[in-house]
Amino acid sequence: MNKLQTMIDSHAHLDFADFDTDRGQLLQQMHRSGISNVIIPSVSEAQWDNQISIALQHNCFYALGIHPWHCEEASKTTLATLRQMLQKYAGKQGLVAVGECGLDKLHKSNFATQMILFEGQIALAKEFDLPLIIHAVRAHEDVLRCLNNQDVRRKGVIHGFYGGPQLAAQYVKLGYKLGVGGLLLNDNAPKLQQTVAELPLESFILETDSPAMTPKNSLNSRNTPLILPEVLQKMADLQKKSTVLVSEQMFYNVAQLFDL
Ligand SMILES: [Zn+2]
Repeated sequence: MNKLQTMIDSHAHLDFADFDTDRGQLLQQMHRSGISNVIIPSVSEAQWDNQISIALQHNCFYALGIHPWHCEEASKTTLATLRQMLQKYAGKQGLVAVGECGLDKLHKSNFATQMILFEGQIALAKEFDLPLIIHAVRAHEDVLRCLNNQDVRRKGVIHGFYGGPQLAAQYVKLGYKLGVGGLLLNDNAPKLQQTVAELPLESFILETDSPAMTPKNSLNSRNTPLILPEVLQKMADLQKKSTVLVSEQMFYNVAQLFDL
């Protein structure tokens, strides 16, 4: 792996307490490995202030939003507060997207609330002209319908994508990118591997979703942005292209989507 290649992790929760003891060290290690930066997505209102201060302290990019798993915690004022936060931070250093937001039918009990908050966040992405970082699990028809109903000019990414080429093509047709991470290294993910082999490279951006999901078949036992070179290598193998070419395209895709 050429150390001069630059990678950006488009989805890493580096604000989580998991990284409190070694965040600075990890960022140094990342820079030495050619991983120049990360986008830190939000999960809940309670975390926004801490997340912003960590992102600014370490010169990372970040997004503001409400994760579908945290919709129960959201109050009637959460969307209004998010709007105020976007008003305050949009156009300033670091803020690059709305999210992560979306729909998750594995956590079905609050699905009605998830829908209200997802539609509200899509509207905010339109209002502030930002792209979306979307969490979509077992709810792809609903997510596609929402994205069709409200056209967000700058589109966004379906993060942690795990589906096959047919589903992938529906998102790509709408102008959305697919976030691909450590799952690609897992031999039990043939659908995703097929998607990465068959769709054009312009469809993807790299991510890790650190610290969630410890990758299988990785040299690293912990999920951090440091696994990106392995994901990139696997992508290059599946696409039958050089890592240099794939790396350049991934950098272009993420920089273009989030205007980095
Ligand atoms: Zn996430």
